[in-house]
Amino acid sequence: MAKTASRKNLYPDGKNTDLVPRRVLMCTSEAVPFAKTGGLADAVSSLSLALAKLGHQVKIAMPRYYHIDCGALDKLEGAMGVPAGGGEEWTAVYTAALPGSGKKNPVLVYFFDHEAFFGRDGIYGTPFESDFRDNPRRFSFMCRACFQLCRKIDWYPDIVHAHDWPAALVPVYLKYGEKYGVSSESGSFAETKSVLTIHNLGYQGIYNKDDFFYTNLGWDVFYQSCFDDWNMMNLLKGGIYSADKLNTVSPNYARETLMQEHGFRLDGCLRSRARDYRGILNGVDGEVWNPARDKFLPAPFSAKDPDGKKLAKQALQKRFGLAEDPEIPVIGMVTRLSAQKGIGELFGPGYGSAFSICRDMNVQFVFLGSGEPWAEHEILGLSSRLANFKAHIGYSEEISHLIEAGSDFFLMPSQYEPCGLNQMYSLAYGTLPIVRNTGGLYDTVEKYNEQTGSGTGFMFDYLSPSAIYNTVGWAIWAWYNRKDHIAAMRLRGMKQDFSWDKSAREYTNLYKDALDS
Ligand code: ADP
Repeated sequence: MAKTASRKNLYPDGKNTDLVPRRVLMCTSEAVPFAKTGGLADAVSSLSLALAKLGHQVKIAMPRYYHIDCGALDKLEGAMGVPAGGGEEWTAVYTAALPGSGKKNPVLVYFFDHEAFFGRDGIYGTPFESDFRDNPRRFSFMCRACFQLCRKIDWYPDIVHAHDWPAALVPVYLKYGEKYGVSSESGSFAETKSVLTIHNLGYQGIYNKDDFFYTNLGWDVFYQSCFDDWNMMNLLKGGIYSADKLNTVSPNYARETLMQEHGFRLDGCLRSRARDYRGILNGVDGEVWNPARDKFLPAPFSAKDPDGKKLAKQALQKRFGLAEDPEIPVIGMVTRLSAQKGIGELFGPGYGSAFSICRDMNVQFVFLGSGEPWAEHEILGLSSRLANFKAHIGYSEEISHLIEAGSDFFLMPSQYEPCGLNQMYSLAYGTLPIVRNTGGLYDTVEKYNEQTGSGTGFMFDYLSPSAIYNTVGWAIWAWYNRKDHIAAMRLRGMKQDFSWDKSAREYTNLYKDALDS
């Protein structure tokens, strides 16, 4: 039995008495500031902090990748053995408090330090090997190590919360093994329930069936848990069939993924779990993304005191070598360059709309991002040919903040978008999103109505170069001809509440439902 007697102690200040505090172990391959390739890393850390603020006791377990400096971490005494591949692998475990967590109820992060699996550049792969050949082995190890960690630190969670395909074996190990394991005096996993969050259904962890060997699970589990995917092994699918509760990161994306168009071949599988599946919108980390306290900006600003935004725009134009003109609308974009983000329709050679937007409209366009080599090449080409299109290829926190703050519009023509963070950052910074009507973009952006002036951004339904061109044209028309509407929309956007507190309460309910199931 998990120790219930100590649950009372988890109320930090006697507050939140309406919530039953839980012990939650987050199992993840990414968490900021330690490892990040996308929104997953932001979501895991912010959610953990918000849950801890509500009174839950939260720990995070993840790999110690090569770039995470051991010197800044504390080492737990003794190595830890993890069953793997018919034998056992040994790992050192490091720990550190998650930056931003309170002293009373800190979120502790535990790192598995296994040289052969994680002592290399790259989280999932490198530019030369986009998906490491031994990823099934590396992440099976990570998932199994989560349970060993609990034994090692003598702390048994109420909820194991797995994130995306790398952690999808966690619910499987719980359901088909750990739940029935030997109880120690201090606890066991017998009462523990699992939650699996799908941050992006486009990534499922599909590997050769032979790699199932590394999971140390029997073939009966392979078939019962439906890992089978046209004679391959689909890790996320196995997790979906094994988790007690499932969610994704916005209500609209939850609906979309039940349908064929956005279901990535797992829509049927999700439909079969529809009773246990819901959408919970991600939040925004208000400590990091707040124009009133943003250390990357030349001056703070807010809805009440918006003047600093003009300085941010000037700094952005200067930084990118554009004419420093407050009257010209600036369109910003920060993104991974992957097909999901609509980059074909925007930058596709000879047909993408970015070129004609910059050629035909009196705008400036700033771009930050990296990814698909063809797109990087194309964007650099545009940058050299057009005076009003400038790009920085690479990753930069500082520039991303400057773009959010200094732009007038933010473009996200995504094919699909589970939640999307940048449109929420944009709203908070008084930058109007231009988005496709999909996933979390639908949940967070209200379409402009030019009759009434209502809305918080510009939206189109079907993704094509001309749809992007026309919608950007619509926004630029409003900029020059409906200045009052633009000002009102900005204010409306800045007043929206996308705090993690709200999402954390919804996750609390999800945990409750999992424990009641
Ligand atoms: P996804 O997770 O699909 O990439 P999200 O919008 O959910 O998309 O989250 C992306 C996160 O990564 C945001 O915080 C965004 O600002 C950040 N990001 C993406 N590319 C870059 C970049 N080149 N430089 C700085 N931040 C970036």
